Amino acid sequence: MPQLLKAESIIDKKLPELTKRCAKLKKAGIKPTMAVIQVGNNAASSSYIKNKKKLCEQIGATFVHSQLPEKISVKKFLAEVKKINTNKKIHGAIIQLPLPKQLQKLAIEELISPEKDIDGFHPQNIYQVFSGKPSTGLIPCTPKGIMQLLAHYEISLAQKNVAIIGRSLIVGKPLALLMTNQDATVTLCHSKTKDLAHITQQADIIVAAIGRAKFININHLSPNKNQVLIDVGINKFENALCGDIDFEAVKNNIAAITPVPGGVGPLTVLSLIENLLLTTENK
Ligand code: NAP
Repeated sequence: MPQLLKAESIIDKKLPELTKRCAKLKKAGIKPTMAVIQVGNNAASSSYIKNKKKLCEQIGATFVHSQLPEKISVKKFLAEVKKINTNKKIHGAIIQLPLPKQLQKLAIEELISPEKDIDGFHPQNIYQVFSGKPSTGLIPCTPKGIMQLLAHYEISLAQKNVAIIGRSLIVGKPLALLMTNQDATVTLCHSKTKDLAHITQQADIIVAAIGRAKFININHLSPNKNQVLIDVGINKFENALCGDIDFEAVKNNIAAITPVPGGVGPLTVLSLIENLLLTTENK
């Protein structure tokens, strides 16, 4: 069996520290408060929001869920976002994706004001990922969680070849930059990549952020059995959750892998909570 890179031990280690920071703020009269704006009733979104609320309340922070109707107009939606941006009692906010069609043309990453942007998507915050010079610390949560996981399990990036599959703004692109900043050589792959298996076979670390159940299989691996696999995918498969990597097919041919569930997902939520404390402390 490969080493299982689980989130649990990281969360157990970090929670007391985050709870202490939250208590310190409350003692000073500041109640860290997160707002999540959800439009409609997407089942997967509701389940992610539940996890955010749970961890938020676990550290003693306040959680506000603003649920808006699916058919809301652009004007009314922007007015709701403005309310959150100007509410002094709210320290961090996110817009839960996906959004309905009528809102998809908006530049979503620019809507939450940069000092409340706990997703780390605002251009003012994302610049530090490009520059490699940390400023606000508000870094996109899934890449931040993956970097934390690699550090915890002492998997160094320097001089490693990394293949990331998926070039989204929330996972693949920022992760490629964060890893490059730590001296990895990154190949960022996508649906138009030629001979993907040839690239993944050369990699020391493979990150799958595709959104296709069990896509990465034995054909993508090196014969040396020394690769580390990071599975970002969350997919429904035969009524259960599974990642983008076919765990059963690869498990005897790799060194380590993140499980789904219990790997990258919980660390994304942990990073969001960390970002909330940063925005509250930065006030
Ligand atoms: P996304 O925006 O849909 O991007 C998917 C990426 O995969 C795109 O870059 C796409 O290429 C690439 N792709 C699709 N088919 C491919 C193929 N056949 N070969 C190579 N590349 C292919 O997805 P996302 O938002 O990054 O999310 C990816 C997955 O991670 C989803 O399952 C999502 O639920 C999950 N996720 C998990 C967490 C977590 O906390 N664990 C957080 C965020 C997302 P093109 O750019 O060419 O279309």
